[in-house]
Amino acid sequence: MPDRYAVFGNPISHSQSPRIHALFAAQTGEEMSYEALLAPLDGFATAVRAFAMSGGRGANVTLPFKEQAFCLATELTPRAKAAGAVNTLSFDGTALRGDNTDGAGLVRDLKANLGFDIAGKRVLLLGAGGAAHGVVLPLLDEQPAALTIANRTEEKAFRLALAFAGRRGTLPEACGFTALTGREFELVINATSAGLSDTALPLPPRLFAARGLAYEMVYGRETAFMRQAHAAGCRVADGLGMLVEQAAEAFQGWRGMRPATGPVLARLKSR
Ligand code: NAP
Repeated sequence: MPDRYAVFGNPISHSQSPRIHALFAAQTGEEMSYEALLAPLDGFATAVRAFAMSGGRGANVTLPFKEQAFCLATELTPRAKAAGAVNTLSFDGTALRGDNTDGAGLVRDLKANLGFDIAGKRVLLLGAGGAAHGVVLPLLDEQPAALTIANRTEEKAFRLALAFAGRRGTLPEACGFTALTGREFELVINATSAGLSDTALPLPPRLFAARGLAYEMVYGRETAFMRQAHAAGCRVADGLGMLVEQAAEAFQGWRGMRPATGPVLARLKSR
């Protein structure tokens, strides 16, 4: 029997993770299976425990269960603790180890795939939900000149910035969207879910610096944010690379080897 892995979410049928991990397994020769499992909205913990009891070795966790996975884990990696959310679980006897690979995935996509050096840049993070929580510390570790967190609900941006005060040299700044008027950033990351409903964020016109990068975490569609950045003449990337890189980070944690992500990203882009 190959080792079993899965991704839990609700909804889950759209997930690319089974395809990505099948490509990683084929590339590395690892004997493993990976399936997408729909967990009931009120039954995440039960579904995960049943999977672990039936021989599952690990699982990814996606919307809306990352905070529940954080509470369910019996051990947490430092980056999961910092994020307050878990997207990767490893099962070892009765232990459930929780990790968060989203931030590492984003930073690796920015640096290795897109050739964008975060050090010394003015960075704007839009959103203060689970995805934003996961990427703040890895972004600060890259030593940007400044990190600003802007959110529709301002209070959540302030709480998120405060959670990281004193954690690294750069202190995140927090604000609402209106306070962005007259500001310019070399890297603008959209970690809101507005793109899923193709809602345009109320962004001021000169937000995107020339030769900067606009990064949309949503993938598989052109969002209003991407159109706004294109119109401003900014380079634009979607979140497919982050998805593949966070998966590679999870795979490495489970199997002890890192798959090459370039060919997998190319395969996903080609269809
Ligand atoms: P979440 O916890 O539900 O947070 C949603 C965020 O989006 C909040 O900050 C919310 O603001 C904001 N928002 C939603 N609709 C908005 C609108 N119409 N206008 C302005 N702000 C709006 O979701 P999440 O887990 O952080 O995920 C965010 C996005 O990242 C999702 O689309 C997800 O698919 C994507 N993601 C991608 C990857 C990847 O690998 N590429 C990984 C993780 C997440 P309020 O606080 O004001 O409600």
